[in-house]
Amino acid sequence: MGKIIQLDDVLSNKIAAGEVVERPASVVKELVENAIDAGSSVVEIDVEEAGLNKIRIIDNGSGIEEDDVLIAFQRHATSKIKDESDLFRIKTLGFRGEALPSIASVSHLEMITATEEHPGTKVVIDGGKITVHEKAPSRRGTDITISDLFYNTPARLKYMKTIHTELGNITDVVNRLALAHPEVSIRLRHNDRTLLQTNGNGDVRQVLAAIYGVNIAKNMIPISVRSLDFKINGYISMPEITRASRNYVSTMINGRFIKNYALVKAIQEGYHTLLPIGRFPIVLLAIEMDPILVDVNVHPAKLEVRLSKEQELNHLISDAIKTAFKKRELIPNGMSPV
Ligand code: ADP
Ligand code: MG
Repeated sequence: MGKIIQLDDVLSNKIAAGEVVERPASVVKELVENAIDAGSSVVEIDVEEAGLNKIRIIDNGSGIEEDDVLIAFQRHATSKIKDESDLFRIKTLGFRGEALPSIASVSHLEMITATEEHPGTKVVIDGGKITVHEKAPSRRGTDITISDLFYNTPARLKYMKTIHTELGNITDVVNRLALAHPEVSIRLRHNDRTLLQTNGNGDVRQVLAAIYGVNIAKNMIPISVRSLDFKINGYISMPEITRASRNYVSTMINGRFIKNYALVKAIQEGYHTLLPIGRFPIVLLAIEMDPILVDVNVHPAKLEVRLSKEQELNHLISDAIKTAFKKRELIPNGMSPV
């Protein structure tokens, strides 16, 4: 008799959760992304004790039909891609089919979901085991509550930082999703206090105002350029408005917030010598490109991406920023790019 066994689903989901669900903010990210992928126009997020106690997300999106509800909690179950060719033109935020089973394996999860045609279903899952599955009439959309996150993974729970830090991570995640999706009205509340409310009218400057304040948003310079391969829109702060952290530089590719050191560098280069050393501007750039040019399947949290034509993109960005400042005579016109 051999020694190797195939792990059961509950255990393998719990192992996968180690990667996908690092902290409460990862749960918020995955669930809000699901709400946005479902075409919601309104997403409400309520968290208690920085999400360690409770995370509730209500959306008015497509909902999940009755027959699909349990499948959605299986590993690698997704409605977003069908075959290998889809993997190279991903337009949704999710596609790995890992979030729901992973989250369900390390928490108490309750979900009520209904589509336009189907009246609604309720499921309760405790540490990956389904305990309730019944009809529950409700309006179209999904209402999901995660309680006692990491209750059955004590090591992970121990690794959680202070409420302050965990909440900071949650607001970062929600702010970025709101910036990437000004067409969705997003509200974030913590212990009944509203931390963010966007109106969903599609105007990014209003989202910037909701996050950074009206004064900063009002003084940001709009940027808009395109090339054969890229379309870039966004806002950049005047050089005198800087921050000590690169966290205020937000870059989105095809509606997905991404971290890319080279892009930040290109932005800094655009500011030329106008930025004090060690300081970063407040920037939001929404980059659109053919999905074939970007590989999002690099990292489970999909934060890092691999770009073809990266240099071309970086040049386009630096030049667009320089041009904006030249127009305002902040960079002398004769000065050649570095
Ligand atoms: P992925 O998002 O990668 O497809 P998930 O595990 O996050 O994987 O979700 C599994 C599936 O459940 C999704 O593909 C989608 O069909 C469905 N789903 C999850 N959340 C929602 C939601 N809020 N509204 C509608 N459908 C949802
Ligand atoms: Mg998902």
